Amino acid sequence: MNKNEQCPLCATRRCTLLYDGHISLYRCKRCHALFNASHRPLEYGESYFNEAYRNQYGKSYLEDFDAIYAMARKRLARISFLSHCKSGLLDIGAAYGFFLKAAFDEGFENLSGIEISEEGARYCAHTFGIQVHVTNFETYEFSRKFNIITAWYFIEHLHDTREAFVKIYNALNEGGIFAFSVPSFFGPQFMLHRNEWIQSHPLDHRVNFSPQLIRRFLGTLGFSKIITYPGGIHPQRFFSPHFARISFFRCLYARVSAMISFSDTLEVYARK
Ligand SMILES: [Zn+2]
Repeated sequence: MNKNEQCPLCATRRCTLLYDGHISLYRCKRCHALFNASHRPLEYGESYFNEAYRNQYGKSYLEDFDAIYAMARKRLARISFLSHCKSGLLDIGAAYGFFLKAAFDEGFENLSGIEISEEGARYCAHTFGIQVHVTNFETYEFSRKFNIITAWYFIEHLHDTREAFVKIYNALNEGGIFAFSVPSFFGPQFMLHRNEWIQSHPLDHRVNFSPQLIRRFLGTLGFSKIITYPGGIHPQRFFSPHFARISFFRCLYARVSAMISFSDTLEVYARK
């Protein structure tokens, strides 16, 4: 264990070790990011989208099409709220192309994706007729700029987090939108069930954010309009089962969660 672990966001070595087990969890004393110093990337092939996904969500990625597609349409509406431009969209970590398919159906044009899994890219090309480039984002060199870049639950898998954000910022046109989702520690799981949160923390997740942290960090990179939303609203993770069943508490929780982006995951929309 290295006592001088470096924060992947602000690069300071002033970090406190919170937990050392299957992951090494640190809190940055400067920017307050929570990061895993023993982060190890996985093989993001077919088994990742089948077994690993099934273990977490109870069904394979392909079987989860309807839910992912519905979520994609909601995200595209949020992008449209920030920008009227519907051309030149890149999805990073495009997986099987469900988001790109929804973008096409919503009238977005000039779509492209990059994805490390060959199976995913092949599926997207065959099923939706949208070409996805098979490549590793970290070594990929952009040859053009985009008006919209999206990355759903992608950034947390990378080792050099700040570098990835800078690379995306540089690949956006002025006024372009970056929309993404990430794990958040400003949510019921970390606040109330911390031990469970730590024990189930994936080995291949590098960094965890909070709404405040992500706003400040994106601001330092040059992003201007920054909006956060809760990635999911789960009152049952906050209240006891008895209170979680009462609609008054469920509604109150949903209201407050939406206002302050209190959630175990976070959606972020930012303009360059
Ligand atoms: Zn930091």
